[in-house]
Amino acid sequence: MPQLCLNPASGNIGTVLAPQGIVDVVGLAKSYGSRLVLHDLSFSVRAGEVVGLLGPNGAGKTTTLSILATLRGADAGTVRIAGFDLRARPGAIRRKLGFVPQAIALYPSLSAYQNLDLFARVQGLSASEARRSCAAALEEVELSDRANDPVATLSGGMKRRLNLACGVVHRPEVLLLDEPTVGVDPQSREKILKTIRALARAGATVIYSTHYMDEVERICDRVLLIDRGRLVAAGTVAEVVALAGEHPRIEITFEREPPPNWCARPLLSVNSVAGAERNKVELKLDNLSQVREVLEQARAAGGRVLEFSVHSPNLSDAFMTLTGRALRDAEPA
Ligand code: ADP
Repeated sequence: MPQLCLNPASGNIGTVLAPQGIVDVVGLAKSYGSRLVLHDLSFSVRAGEVVGLLGPNGAGKTTTLSILATLRGADAGTVRIAGFDLRARPGAIRRKLGFVPQAIALYPSLSAYQNLDLFARVQGLSASEARRSCAAALEEVELSDRANDPVATLSGGMKRRLNLACGVVHRPEVLLLDEPTVGVDPQSREKILKTIRALARAGATVIYSTHYMDEVERICDRVLLIDRGRLVAAGTVAEVVALAGEHPRIEITFEREPPPNWCARPLLSVNSVAGAERNKVELKLDNLSQVREVLEQARAAGGRVLEFSVHSPNLSDAFMTLTGRALRDAEPA
């Protein structure tokens, strides 16, 4: 059952699922030396969901995914994946998982097919199962025609797609993806997103870390926003955007500076967008239905409107509001 969670430190953080998902994380804590990087992090993911793990650089996303992938130990907290406790049954969890790390983890002198086959066999597939799965995975990421080429000869985008294929060749129940589209060309990015959606449609649960908000808006059912190792918001994209309390904005370019007080009805605020451009104004609206009224008032006041644009708050706005900054580099200890 979803429940609204009130976090005493940061107030309402949105809809957090009660623990009973396919992935349940409760009170996770992790330090590197004296640096505490995860603080009492709790979240749940339902079977079949695609969940975006968002946060500025250094927020703790990779650390969280590495702990879930059984590659790093936590200092405190519990993790259950597919019904297994991570401390007690890491081997059982590994068989349920696919992990696609941020760094490309491929053998450059082996061919695309040999890399896939290696990952498939390590995951316990028989030779004939591996043959079928490797062929299907190559087709899925559209690399069948490069199957026999050494990885060293593939483009960056192809390596990223193969990296993904190696993480999913054994058809894992739970897929952990750490920035799988970083630095790829738009075509490869589309193929990667298409593959992730196809895996989710086939029943996989996906936890997807990325810095690309548009990807989250497109493919994720829910968002977990973390900052400085704490969960600061959780919910659907629309819920997280609403939680941030951002308002729609309209920017109007007049032919010349509009008369003072041209906008009679008090709106949330009226700002000059740029001091030098006195013919431009930006207004924060209560809601989008005010657009027409604002334009009518501009016309009635004799201000000729050259152009206008309306900006509805999106996940990127919510990210900035809730984390207080744009993407940032990890801070030194
Ligand atoms: P994100 O993936 O959100 O960028 P990380 O989990 O990589 O965040 O890093 C969280 C914090 O932990 C950062 O401050 C980072 O510098 C630090 N960190 C990550 N890995 C190590 C490590 N192996 N040793 C020491 N500090 C680390």
